[in-house]
Amino acid sequence: MAAEPAPTDNAIPDRVGRIRFMDQQRVNLDGFAHEDVSLGLVALHSPADPEPSLRIEHGVVVEMDSRPAADFDVIDAMIARHGIDLGVAAEAMALDDVALARMLVDATVPRAEIVRLVAGTTPAKLARVMALLRPAELTMAMTKMRARRTPSNQAHVTNRLDDPLLLAADAATAAAYGFRELETTVPVLADAPSNAVAVTVGAAVASPGVLVQCSVEEAMELEMGMRGLVSYAETVSIYGTEAVFVDGDDTPYSKAILAAAYASRGVKMRVSSGAGSEVLMGGAERCSMLYLESRCVSLARAMGVQGVQNGGIDGASVAGSVPCGVRELMAENVMVMARNLESCSGNDALMSESDVRRTSRTLPILLAGSDYVCSGFGSIQRYDNMFGPSQWNAEDIDDWLVMQRDWGVDGGLRTADVYEVGRLRRRAAEATRDVYRWLGLADFTDDHVERAVDAVGSKDLGDPDPMVVLGAAQAIRSSGLGSLQVARALQECGYDEEASRVLDMLAARVHGDHLQTAAIFNESMQVLSLVTDPNDYAGPGTGYDPAPRRQAEIDAIRQARGVEDLRADQAQWANESLRVVGPAAQGGHPQEVVIGLSPAVGRTVWQTLSGLSVLDVLRELLAGLEEESCQARVVRVNSTLDLGMIGLTAARLAGSGIGIGLQGKGTALIHRRDLPPLANLELYSMAPVITPALYRLLGSNAGRHAKGATPVPARNPYTDEAIEARYHTSVVALVALERACVDRRLGNEDLEVRL
Ligand code: CA
Repeated sequence: MAAEPAPTDNAIPDRVGRIRFMDQQRVNLDGFAHEDVSLGLVALHSPADPEPSLRIEHGVVVEMDSRPAADFDVIDAMIARHGIDLGVAAEAMALDDVALARMLVDATVPRAEIVRLVAGTTPAKLARVMALLRPAELTMAMTKMRARRTPSNQAHVTNRLDDPLLLAADAATAAAYGFRELETTVPVLADAPSNAVAVTVGAAVASPGVLVQCSVEEAMELEMGMRGLVSYAETVSIYGTEAVFVDGDDTPYSKAILAAAYASRGVKMRVSSGAGSEVLMGGAERCSMLYLESRCVSLARAMGVQGVQNGGIDGASVAGSVPCGVRELMAENVMVMARNLESCSGNDALMSESDVRRTSRTLPILLAGSDYVCSGFGSIQRYDNMFGPSQWNAEDIDDWLVMQRDWGVDGGLRTADVYEVGRLRRRAAEATRDVYRWLGLADFTDDHVERAVDAVGSKDLGDPDPMVVLGAAQAIRSSGLGSLQVARALQECGYDEEASRVLDMLAARVHGDHLQTAAIFNESMQVLSLVTDPNDYAGPGTGYDPAPRRQAEIDAIRQARGVEDLRADQAQWANESLRVVGPAAQGGHPQEVVIGLSPAVGRTVWQTLSGLSVLDVLRELLAGLEEESCQARVVRVNSTLDLGMIGLTAARLAGSGIGIGLQGKGTALIHRRDLPPLANLELYSMAPVITPALYRLLGSNAGRHAKGATPVPARNPYTDEAIEARYHTSVVALVALERACVDRRLGNEDLEVRL
């Protein structure tokens, strides 16, 4: 069979409509590559990946992954010297790959046992084991292997203008939604100290114990860390090949020294790596992404850092372009966990324009839970994300909250009270203005505060003077100002609670408990880490489950509604237009059509799902009947809420034998006396999309049936929306209201309608 040429050009004219239509879908904006070993465009296995091996002589590694010590590059050398537990290496390396892979998913094998064994594996060995895990097995392994029991999440808080008031308001918002680490950065490097101060103040307004990072050039970032303006760092990048390290004018040793510098000042610290970076720099040396990343993770262990931000950070879309790329990204995270490090699990840079693909990539990690499910959830709008749009952004916060609730899992976020968000944003903007003024950094106007409080993003700020931020940042830097002065300014300006929260973060550096693996502070300033909150998953019924209070937070999304909410909405539409005249009798006029209403109409139900009032609907139905010169009578059928039976009852009462049934939610049909209950002549089932014109058409068609004609049936309008998802809650509540009004003893009642 001849192979079809691969279609590559959307402009090819002779493709059928079905293909042209598929070409237009958003997933086709993404780039996809053929596997290409020569470029390193290969996810899990490359022929160039070395065979795992480890030879130790007199306590020294003399061969690792098929390479003799004499040929070690700088990465090999550091891993061989500091990254492998030689005491367990012989046992670990002798284990069959499949046996070790099975231990990762076997709930009866404790996490600690795997950590013990993996410590003795070489990079090539661990990569091979990870490549054996299928997606569901990776999910199982992550559930068991993450260091901290309680999952968490990290946010980006940035804006295009580096506006301090907006940064503070957005930091407070992010903390209110539950993020425990906030990462900021700058479009203008010199602004960095101002951003760090603004995010610190904003975070302190919303919550104690939020860790703050300002990701910039290494020297400036370290300086801010030493001054206490930031409390963690994670953008110390490491790579899987020596060539890429050298191109960046770095070595693993220079990075290790930098990491130690942070730790020495009580700044929490992890490194960044992840698939694709070596490919992007043309330095993959024909190896698979998973193997190169295994080298990075081993290196992180050797450097003694707390954790790794990986899972495809800037290179996520490179990994995503090849077969099994997304699986490779998750395997990277599990490798970090298996090496007993904190995992900041990617889901960071936007890797697809397709919502389906984005969700597909992230969902297993959300389900499994990670130390940080996202290593950079854009808590601000996409356009304000100065790291570039994230995989998840402010546009998606409600989606995230709903996904947590759907699956009953903890993705680190919670629904913030809508009014509390407003209060916090105001307090954050005002506190930042006051602190900047008190410190002599800048003066912001009341109008600027108001804009920042209400802004969805920096486009809503008008056109603030960029030199103000730059001037403030320079003043912070040149004055040597640190977070102690920020705390003092907060206190002098009357923000005592915020001042003590900033001080608490400084004091925490002295204790250093948050330098333990996978540490976060909870809102009581307790450190949750591998030491104080170790993951104890050992199969169903064990491990992390949200505590009842946390579960209630996860469940309580602001969109949830109940019957009483709907009853109150409906009551606002109540009026005196429908009046009971008396019991309904059989009609005699041959052109009489009866409109049968469900029991709650005009009692507790007044508005249909389309937004039309029931009176608007009746007006159209009656007008349609009048157009056909038919007599109309409106009857409430009290014995049932079944639309077919309501319509049939109306038809049996009508002189013509034709009836219309109408439920309070707006569904309607035409029935005829001699038909079985479940049959009908015409049916409008899509209540939310029925227009006044369609109700009028239903009225006139009923009239035509009454006169013995055969009208063209009215049809439900086109819709491709998730009508049922949008309305089922209302439908359930409306049915409950109808059910409460059913009363057979009332029989059928003639109604007088005053329109
Ligand atoms: Ca990050």
